[in-house]
Order: sequence, then C-alpha cells, then structure tokens
Amino acid sequence: MKLIDGRKTAELIKEEIKKEIAGMIDKNDKSPHLAAVLVGDDPASQTYVSGKEKACKKVGMMSSVYKHPANISEKELLEVVDFLNGDPEIDGFIVQLPLPDHINEQKVIEAIDPRKDVDGFHPVNLGRMITGMPAYIPATPLGIMTLLERYEIETEGKNCVVIGRSNIVGTPVGILMSRKSDPGNATVTLCHSKTENLKDIAAQADIIIAAIGKAGSVTADMVKKDAVVIDVGIHRIKSNQTKTGYKLVGDVDFDRVSKKCSYITPVPGGVGPMTIISLLTNTLKASKKEIYG
Ligand code: NAD
Repeated sequence: MKLIDGRKTAELIKEEIKKEIAGMIDKNDKSPHLAAVLVGDDPASQTYVSGKEKACKKVGMMSSVYKHPANISEKELLEVVDFLNGDPEIDGFIVQLPLPDHINEQKVIEAIDPRKDVDGFHPVNLGRMITGMPAYIPATPLGIMTLLERYEIETEGKNCVVIGRSNIVGTPVGILMSRKSDPGNATVTLCHSKTENLKDIAAQADIIIAAIGKAGSVTADMVKKDAVVIDVGIHRIKSNQTKTGYKLVGDVDFDRVSKKCSYITPVPGGVGPMTIISLLTNTLKASKKEIYG
C-alpha cells in the first residue's frame, strides 16, 4: 500500500504558486487577492477562513475577510456580494458556508459573479464544468483530481465508485471522473443514502471516493484488493491516545482498509490540505483571467 500524501503535494503546489506570484510581482503586476465573507461566529467556519488567510500569506497572495454578525439580513449580505463583484482589487472571493437559516444560501451563491466564484459553486461554473468548458472547479474535487494526477494513478476505463452526492464534493467529483479528460474517463457509479447494496457496488470498484460524512463507514469488506481509496471525510473523535483527547479520522476504516488497497489518502494529511491549495490555484487563475479571459 502506498500513502497518497496530500500534505506533501500541497506543499509542492504552494511552492509553485509562490514562485509564480513572485514572478508577477517582479513584473510589477499586483499579487492575486482573495476575499472571504464570514457570517456569524461558527468556530469551524472561523477556523477554515483563518486557514485560508494563512495559506494566502504563505504564497504572497493578498487576503481580506469581511466579517458580519449572524443577524445580517439577506439583503445586506447580497449587497456585500455585489460590492465584491464590482471591486477591481478583488480577483476572487468566497462566502463561507453554512449561512444562518434566515439566509437563502443558493440565492447568495447565484449572486456571486461567476468570474470571481473561486469556490466554483455558481451554477454557471458547474454547468461549464459539466460541458468540459474552462471553469472554476470546487476546491475539494479539484484537490482530489490533482492528487490522482500527481500520483499518476490511471483512471481511464476504471470502475470508480463515488459515495456521497453533495454539491460540493460527491456530485462534482463524479462528473470530473467521468469527463473525457486525464484524469477522468472512468466509469462512475454515484452512490448515496438511498443506494441499495452499497457494499456489493463498492467492492467492484477500482477507485473508491468516500464523501459520506460518517466516520469509518467504508470497511475492508467493501474494498476490492488493490483498489485506490480516496477518503474525503473528516471527523474529530474522542481518543485516549492523544494529548488533546481527540483525533481526526475519515470516512474510511483506515487501519483495515489500508492493508488491502494499493493507494490510500490518510486523514489527516490527505484530501484536507489539497482543498485549501486548490482554492489558491483558482484564485491565481482568477487573477490571470485564465477561465473567462
Ligand atoms: P454531505 O453530508 O453534504 O453529503 C453526504 C453524502 O453522503 C450525501 O449525499 C448522502 O446521500 C451520502 N450518504 C449518507 N449516508 C450514506 C450511506 N449510508 N450510504 C451511502 N451514501 C450515504 O457531506 P459533504 O459535504 O459531501 O462531506 C462529506 C464528508 O467530507 C464530511 O465528513 C465532510 O466533513 C468532509 N469534507 C472534507 C473536506 C476536505 O477538505 N477534506 C471538504 C468537504 C467535506
């Protein structure tokens, strides 16, 4: 079994981005600028946004955070989005999800200018992705595809089972794996909570992508010998083996599955670090106007 090291791959890409930005600054171009809109005080959202800020700093990108209280109205938030759409200093921005219940998330996503939608959640970017046009690809699926590419894992003609159909992970990664591209060209089965015989379907897979949101739910009997296993899940569970009393685990029963498969992403250190770096990749593309010209 070989580990797919997301941390190391993300570091390599970080260096590549840093070098490219240094080159831009040398030529008197402005460095790319990513903004994040943070609503309320959800600790997980705060952690994600501060992680993104730190990552920007490390590569020489500018970053700004627009913080708003949880009781901001939908209309006010749409005005913030409109402001960022029109601000020429900002190359790309994200609205950190989830939003409070009184705000229609989809309405906010659709208000973002697709040219600045570096999260790739806008229907225009999703539609462009489906039809194979240049598009911002959502960060986690882009991170997964980058890992498959950098580890030169053959996907063409392979039987790929994606477990989970969320708009941010399962559905887009299923589309990317089936697209006429490299990596891609796989035969994809997209499984979800209503799938019958998940175990039998997963056991046929050459490549399993697990984005279920349930710790350890992909067990060894669901995995064919020498399959490639990509674990997207992240869960903080109690542990008496760590100082903090917690440890991070994925959707896959790593200890048993890793004995059977050919490649596996660990948690932590697999898909997670690739997600932030993919957001930076998208922001760099936005500043170079690579997608929309
Ligand atoms: P989600 O809850 O939106 O979607 C989960 C999907 O799993 C759903 O489509 C559901 O139909 C499916 N599902 C649930 N139970 C199932 C079952 N028993 N059998 C088959 N399918 C089942 O979750 P999400 O946002 O896609 O995230 C999935 C996991 O990935 C979570 O643990 C999340 O924390 C993690 N995540 C990690 C990153 C990262 O950067 N590593 C990014 C996003 C999400």
